[in-house]
Amino acid sequence: MSEKKRTEISELGEFALIDRLTSKFTAKQSSTLKGVGDDAAVIDAGNGEVIVISCDSLLEGVDFDLTYFPLKHLGYKAVTVGISDILAMNATPEQIILSLGISSKLPVEALEDFYEGVHFACEEMGIDLVGGDTSASMTGFVVGITAIGRAKKESIAYRSGAQINDLICITGNLGAAYMGLHLLEREKRVLKGIDNPEPQFEGYEYLLEKYLKPRSRKDVIQQLAEEGITPTSMIDLSDGLASDLMQICRSSKCGARIYLERIPIAKQTSALAEEMHADPVVAALNGGEDHELLFTVPLSMQEKVMRMGGIDVIGHITAESTGAALVTPDGSNIRLKAQGFKEE
Ligand code: ADP
Ligand code: MG
Repeated sequence: MSEKKRTEISELGEFALIDRLTSKFTAKQSSTLKGVGDDAAVIDAGNGEVIVISCDSLLEGVDFDLTYFPLKHLGYKAVTVGISDILAMNATPEQIILSLGISSKLPVEALEDFYEGVHFACEEMGIDLVGGDTSASMTGFVVGITAIGRAKKESIAYRSGAQINDLICITGNLGAAYMGLHLLEREKRVLKGIDNPEPQFEGYEYLLEKYLKPRSRKDVIQQLAEEGITPTSMIDLSDGLASDLMQICRSSKCGARIYLERIPIAKQTSALAEEMHADPVVAALNGGEDHELLFTVPLSMQEKVMRMGGIDVIGHITAESTGAALVTPDGSNIRLKAQGFKEE
């Protein structure tokens, strides 16, 4: 019997795996404007409009831990995770569909809490829950979320449109969700086995909120429209700045130079990182789950972007040959890697 070659998933990594599985699929429908490879698929809806669709899943034990993740917050976060990808296309989210794998350990009331969070997020974002699927799960709670949005065809911001000299812009601040997760994990470890545990979160409430109840940045999409700015490229910051910027570079066939001291980091993020002997810049570069937006605009848009408020310009796009680099205050260049970075 001939032996079939076995390749471990870890040899490829997530992105090469997706490429390998999907490379045979070329678009047959003229309405498929963008398939695999961006934050969301883009479907031509006629009349100069497009529909954008994306799906995400959250798995118990992998993406969340129910020992400290309130179900109401998880419901809210699932909506944020789903519609962040729609916003990252510069589109307006309109509907979501939820599919659940429910473990028998969850009572109905817990699921009602989850849906309360979903409902709250839907009201806040002005979107409709329009369906879903419910089945049993033997491996913990599983949440699948599909998000649907709409945009004018010419307003869509793909990952592939960044041009040399474009400014690299970031909304909000980075690394807070990652530090929030570490705080929760620390308290879980410390309080293991203790009756009536009282976790210590004082002074770090913002970090917990960024991890447990992140808000999606629909406000930014509205502000961009008001200022008449269509980003040349955009991505939602879900995997960490380094990895997500490299996706822009890969899709746009360009390089990037970002400046360490310009990376926006909240006070609480730095304070907890110091307490835990961690580097807040590493949290920003590799942490992920910030659900902020990274976008690029031509240099000529600088004034308009600054007028929006709450946006930091952290660097600029360079030629592909220069790669993606982080410039430290002393002027040395550190090459960015998808996970971590190494000194040249
Ligand atoms: P995001 O981090 O924005 O949610 P992913 O990194 O999960 O995006 O996916 C990158 C791209 O690959 C997207 O276009 C997504 O639709 C596509 N993709 C991911 N997994 C699969 C899969 N199993 N089959 C087909 N396409 C996939
Ligand atoms: Mg994304």
